[in-house]
Amino acid sequence: MNAFGAWEMPEEYRLLRDNVRRFMAEDVRTAEDQVEHDAYKLPPHLLNPLQDKARAMGLWALGTPEQYGGAGLNALGYAVVAEEAARCRMGSYVWAAGAFGMDPPEIIWAGTAEQINEYGIPSVKGDRKGYFAISEPSGGSDPARAIQARAIRDGDDYILNGTKTWITAAGISDWGIVFARTGKPGDRGGISAFIVDSDNPGVSFREIDVIRSYSPWEVFFTDCRIPSSKRIGEEGEGFKILSRFLGINRIPYTANCIGTAQYALELAIDWAKSRTVFGSTLAEKQAIQWMIADSEMELQAARMLVYQAAWALDMGKPFQVESSIAKVTGTETAGRVVDRCIQIFGGMGVTHELPLERWHRELRIKRIGEGPSEVHRMVVARHLLGTKA
Ligand SMILES: Cc1cc2nc3c(=O)[nH]c(=O)nc-3n(C[C@H](O)[C@H](O)[C@H](O)COP(=O)(O)OP(=O)(O)OC[C@H]3O[C@@H](n4cnc5c(N)ncnc54)[C@H](O)[C@@H]3O)c2cc1C
Repeated sequence: MNAFGAWEMPEEYRLLRDNVRRFMAEDVRTAEDQVEHDAYKLPPHLLNPLQDKARAMGLWALGTPEQYGGAGLNALGYAVVAEEAARCRMGSYVWAAGAFGMDPPEIIWAGTAEQINEYGIPSVKGDRKGYFAISEPSGGSDPARAIQARAIRDGDDYILNGTKTWITAAGISDWGIVFARTGKPGDRGGISAFIVDSDNPGVSFREIDVIRSYSPWEVFFTDCRIPSSKRIGEEGEGFKILSRFLGINRIPYTANCIGTAQYALELAIDWAKSRTVFGSTLAEKQAIQWMIADSEMELQAARMLVYQAAWALDMGKPFQVESSIAKVTGTETAGRVVDRCIQIFGGMGVTHELPLERWHRELRIKRIGEGPSEVHRMVVARHLLGTKA
């Protein structure tokens, strides 16, 4: 920052961006080229060397605090890396093809030392895997009202009954964080968070086929006995604890969508320069130029909104409205840009020769996950109008 407050991206983050971009091009995409179009993981002989290199770069478990073995990035650094980590075929959901490891659901860090040691840290290391389950068939947009899963006290245990749905990776995880009602229906204060082991005899899973290959699952709890030592925080405090983390993930989530779309645009630009139709290249057609120009302008604007939300969070200022604005703009822009890129490629755009059709499907989900666009618009409108739900 200069004496007049003018700002540019700090050198440290520019270097970080360049290093990750090089890693994606030289290592990650080369490995990923060897697996099928819709794969969502690499075999160990391809993944292990990438993970070793990522650890050496200090980029392991990007969203996890350093004290628990994660990269400990601030929000701006995380946004920068999340954008670059999108630049591979599976990068929309499996960042850098898994090279940076996975973060456990962050609410585990609000747990006790025992919970953190048993579930959080082994999951950062990659020895365990956890899912996050709040959505239910009764509705995911407004979980505080919709949650019907109920946990009833039985001595020093709880008995949990209910169903969660759309839960990413639940069936391939060995534990999860599950939100259930312990108080009155419709009451935010009546919800508690529990750690549930997947080998608990009261838990079962059903895979749900959706437009991405990385499945969500339905999770059924039938007289599932959970010791009270597995509750995170106090009874009825589940939502309050969650609200400490709410909105933080939306920033890298959106940055990642922008990264996918930026990379798609680069592929489309290369194609437009080389493809000839009606006696000249696509690059010389105004219709194509405008698609490319509009895409670049919209992506630059969306990126600035992500940075704005990240700056607010890093400076300890309110960032919820900023993260909603960024989330809607970034996810909707990314979908539109990839759609235009497919158009520029013509028939090739919808083949499995290119990653575009996969990104198109996966980006469609991003307007629903992490809160649908309408809910974020509602957050912005409420902020401006001072209205309630
Ligand atoms: C692939 C995938 C993975 C997911 N992974 C997870 C996960 O790991 N864990 C988890 O807990 N959940 C997960 N979800 C659930 C996701 O968070 C919910 O789908 C989302 O919150 C919407 O909930 P819903 O599907 O029940 O839609 P509903 O709540 O029924 O909403 C339907 C639609 O209504 C509209 N709407 C909602 N509220 C308003 C409003 N106030 N004003 C106007 N319109 C509105 C929106 O268009 C919304 O899309 C996942 C979903 C998908 C599709």
